[in-house]
Amino acid sequence: MNVADSQRVAAALEGFGYECTLQPADADVIVLNTCVVRQSAEDRAHGRLSSLTPLKQSKPDLVINLMGCLVGPRNLSELKERYPDVDVFSPPSDIAPLINFLSQREIHHAQIDEINTRNTLLDEELPLPRPDIGQVSAFLPIVLGCSHGCTYCVIPSRRGGERSRSPDNILAEARSLVHQGVKEITLLGQIVDRYGCDLADGQSLAMLLGQLSDIDGLLRIRYLTSHPGYLTDAILEASARLPKVCPHIEVPVQAGDDKVLMAMRRGYTRDDYRKLVARIREYLPAGSIGTDIIVGFPDETEDQFQHTVDLLEELRLDVTHLARYSPRPGTPAYRNLVDSVPAAEKMRRFRILEELQERVSSEINARLLNTSQEVLFENRAKGKWRGRTRTNKLVFVESTDSLAGVLHRVRITWTGPWSMQAELIRS
Ligand code: SAH
Repeated sequence: MNVADSQRVAAALEGFGYECTLQPADADVIVLNTCVVRQSAEDRAHGRLSSLTPLKQSKPDLVINLMGCLVGPRNLSELKERYPDVDVFSPPSDIAPLINFLSQREIHHAQIDEINTRNTLLDEELPLPRPDIGQVSAFLPIVLGCSHGCTYCVIPSRRGGERSRSPDNILAEARSLVHQGVKEITLLGQIVDRYGCDLADGQSLAMLLGQLSDIDGLLRIRYLTSHPGYLTDAILEASARLPKVCPHIEVPVQAGDDKVLMAMRRGYTRDDYRKLVARIREYLPAGSIGTDIIVGFPDETEDQFQHTVDLLEELRLDVTHLARYSPRPGTPAYRNLVDSVPAAEKMRRFRILEELQERVSSEINARLLNTSQEVLFENRAKGKWRGRTRTNKLVFVESTDSLAGVLHRVRITWTGPWSMQAELIRS
């Protein structure tokens, strides 16, 4: 979401006559786009903010914009006090405060102190993104905000309630991305499978996948993240039927214990999730599944954690994104529950799942050895060309020819838990 937001900021600033630099010291405007989903991300944001102070001192005209989820509805005065060097504060996705500041400043050469903290940005207000030159894969947010209210999650209070963007705007944006060279689009939403629930005329993710498939030049479509409760047969059927839609589903389970799931207010049971995985595999037998897990949620017992271990062992998913529970001010869990699992114990649980997943992913990927796979190549990394299979697995290939944006069949020659090596199959 933040990568997508940042590209919109870049596009808006270019429209305003600025150009991009990778060196903070060369910049006239620095936008720090922040995430606070876990304490570690928030700490990083504070670290980066503090590191900008010397730059601002040596260059008082430098404009610093603090953007994103660190700018909450209630912490502005605190942030202003702590970071007097920040000129503009803007909530997630909202480019208006920065653009207003810059245009006012050009007119008046004056310091403007207007702060905008609404987090209900409308679809129409989103500036168009600008992909990087040669960028193969782009993110396209289709659902803004979230209204689900998982008890651990700060996102609804920072990104506002759920709003689906209009299909017309999404399609226009997708065409514009493809026109600029993008080959793969990943549709984004906190609960992407709820796309359209708040729109008229039965618009849905399944329909949108069909509409996007008609765009010439677009080679691949992905979507993330799905919530287990909303992954309909129609979405899975469309994913199986439409050749451009990649068979990879990110669908977080978060925990494998019913009591913990209930306390997280996720809205499904461990058995519901099992059935869902079976249903996904029925529709997408050659597909892959990713999940997210939070270990050490308040009061999670050893037995309850073991249920998560057992579930992952049983389901053998392709990827797990692991997190240790991080209390987030403003969330129901922060208000009502004690962060009772000690840090060392969270780490122990994290490592157990990490090892389990490394083994499972190694075994799953090993079965791909010597098979032929279709890879969309993106860029060079570590002296090789880097791309992904339709199932979102990382593949590296040696080639003296440029493969950027090229869809090519490869033969897998080596597999590990996190990536694979391959050679091009010459046709
Ligand atoms: N809406 C998406 C993404 C949420 S943020 C979803 O439901 O998947 C991405 C991941 O961060 C979540 O899936 C969750 O595993 C993790 N996360 C969110 N809040 C957290 C918290 N307070 N502590 C630890 N992990 C958290």
